[in-house]
Amino acid sequence: MAWDFETDADFQAQLDWMDDFVTRECEPLDLVFTGPADPFDPARRGPAAAMAPLKARVRERGLWACHLGPELGGQGYGQVKLGLMNEILGRSRFAPTVFGTQAPDTGNAEILARFGTPEQKRCYLEPLVNGEIASCYSMTEPQAGSDPGQFTCRAVLDGDAWVVNGEKWFASHADFARFLLLMVVTDTTVPVHEGASILIVDRQTPGLEVVRNVAVGIREEIGSGVHAYLRFTNCRVPASHMLGQPGQGFAVAQSRLGGGRIHHAMRTVGVLKRALDMLCERALSRSTKGELLSEKQLTQEKIADSYTQITQFRLHVLYAAWLIDKHKAYNREVRREIAAVKAAMPGVLRDVVYRALHIHGSLGMSNEMPLMAMWAAVPEMGIVDGPTEVHKVAVAKAVLRGRQPAPGPWPSAFLPDTVVAARAKLAWAIALDTASH
Ligand SMILES: Cc1cc2nc3c(=O)[nH]c(=O)nc-3n(C[C@H](O)[C@H](O)[C@H](O)COP(=O)(O)OP(=O)(O)OC[C@H]3O[C@@H](n4cnc5c(N)ncnc54)[C@H](O)[C@@H]3O)c2cc1C
Repeated sequence: MAWDFETDADFQAQLDWMDDFVTRECEPLDLVFTGPADPFDPARRGPAAAMAPLKARVRERGLWACHLGPELGGQGYGQVKLGLMNEILGRSRFAPTVFGTQAPDTGNAEILARFGTPEQKRCYLEPLVNGEIASCYSMTEPQAGSDPGQFTCRAVLDGDAWVVNGEKWFASHADFARFLLLMVVTDTTVPVHEGASILIVDRQTPGLEVVRNVAVGIREEIGSGVHAYLRFTNCRVPASHMLGQPGQGFAVAQSRLGGGRIHHAMRTVGVLKRALDMLCERALSRSTKGELLSEKQLTQEKIADSYTQITQFRLHVLYAAWLIDKHKAYNREVRREIAAVKAAMPGVLRDVVYRALHIHGSLGMSNEMPLMAMWAAVPEMGIVDGPTEVHKVAVAKAVLRGRQPAPGPWPSAFLPDTVVAARAKLAWAIALDTASH
């Protein structure tokens, strides 16, 4: 019997250490260094210097880059343990970088490790895994995000280089990344899923221009932010910089996209738990009309619904993680479960954060609580790594696969037919029953 919801004592000790470390050491960084690039850009001297000794302690503790196998300096813990860790790290903006598991670098490291040549690994993977540089994954284009069939950014082989022309949009961290993993169409004669490839593009390559940086939110200045609008004009990328084979771009990307989505979901569990903590604390602290909010049934409903939604979502995330560990591949079953988790995530976050925010009244929506920052993540989680609709379509297709239409004009559960069949099968028992009355 293999069902087991328990964490072994040794690993629980690691989680307890992380919990304390994130509260004491990472959460203060969130309060002091609030710029959008601060946790990610190695050139930000203050945050980088403050993080350096913390990273060293994480390494000493054997918790650095736990998304990777031991051959790459990680622990090879697998996704379930990573899920439990990310629940803690998700509470803090800085914690994933301090533990070497920040997006998009985790996913980029994963595909470089799987598909990179020895030279590509030496140049890009090693410094990335060591936390010395940042990276970017660039696929979305201004005119097309969730429909790759409309991608127009092209690369044409010219001698020993791919010549890239086109535009990309919302390329997170491109401005300060050392390199970009660029999804680009290299063969226009076949469908995009067979004709796109991934190129490793050094950030300083001539012909690669940041048109503008774009921010999430409403208060930020136009031109600020960490998501880049990119233009490539006759940008020559050495032919040796292709990751995987020509035309394999989507096959290569699959593992990074799957990993990226489930890691977002794991960190979101951390945000949800924090929101529930805040909801409960407020309910136990504030009274109105002669009783605590926690004594009012409409508040109790908010607490119960939040607890139930978080528990359901968390178990689903861990189940998807368990499937990845079991299959060690992003096969159909794994992809279905990741898509279901990804589609559920913004709804759970919206409900739970809204209740926590609402129970704090005016304070909740003020700039003196972290709740509005959590609220801003709701639309982000519905779009980043593909819109909810696309993932729901994927889930529905997976669920429908292998199922059959009704055998005739009536559904197979049509009672007049099923009751007749059941009566015929149990005629002997019906006869006995009738005789005994
Ligand atoms: C915070 C953040 C970070 C990001 N980082 C990166 C990054 O590093 N690299 C990168 O390449 N991209 C990145 N993106 C872009 C992201 O991947 C795209 O925004 C996403 O794929 C959707 O593409 P789009 O914005 O063009 O929206 P569209 O594809 O235009 O979709 C817009 C809306 O159309 C509807 N829709 C779309 N398809 C369907 C469908 N099949 N059925 C029904 N309705 C549909 C949905 O309502 C959807 O929300 C990031 C986005 C965010 C928000």
